Amino acid sequence: MRRRAFLGLGSNLGDRLANLQRAVALLASTPGIEVVASSRVWETEPVGGPPQPEYLNAVVLVRTELEPDDLLAAAQGVEAALGRTRGVRWGPRTIDVDLLLIDRVALDRPDLTVPHPRLLERAFVLLPLLELEPDPVLPDGRRVLDQPVPGGGARPVAPALEVPGG
Ligand code: ATP
Ligand code: CA
Ligand code: CA
Repeated sequence: MRRRAFLGLGSNLGDRLANLQRAVALLASTPGIEVVASSRVWETEPVGGPPQPEYLNAVVLVRTELEPDDLLAAAQGVEAALGRTRGVRWGPRTIDVDLLLIDRVALDRPDLTVPHPRLLERAFVLLPLLELEPDPVLPDGRRVLDQPVPGGGARPVAPALEVPGG
């Protein structure tokens, strides 16, 4: 089945903008994934974890034939390709690729929880998401906008990432 999914990208090590852009290119070159659109790029203070540089964040909309587990594997493949190493929880990284929403799919496993469990708390996820989907609906029918959008800590700093073929 072909589904629409929103992926959250974040980078706070190295050339952060280039890392986000490379992640989009790698996703777009993955069989079964078509990147449709990107939000603008937002700069964000780190939340949780050790003291670390500010993040650049963006959200991309993809269409995919992949099952959710295979989409997660693809996201983790992009992280590996960009040299992400796993240190402390919520520590700095060249790239983080999170599955935020996959149509109305609901999964509640430690290795894959969809919608992303911290989606509604994070301005750096919600503000770019709302650029692409002004009124997102969760699998249980609740609307993201039923709660106040958390403020603070995120500001747009660059236009949308380039979408190959887009
Ligand atoms: P956070 O999840 O709070 O944004 P993080 O992105 O820093 O934290 P990671 O270290 O990147 O966390 O991922 C930890 C684990 O989360 C991964 O091994 C993955 O299996 C699991 N996971 C669960 N749900 C998701 C999801 N929706 N998207 C990506 N990974 C997920
Ligand atoms: Ca994350
Ligand atoms: Ca992650």
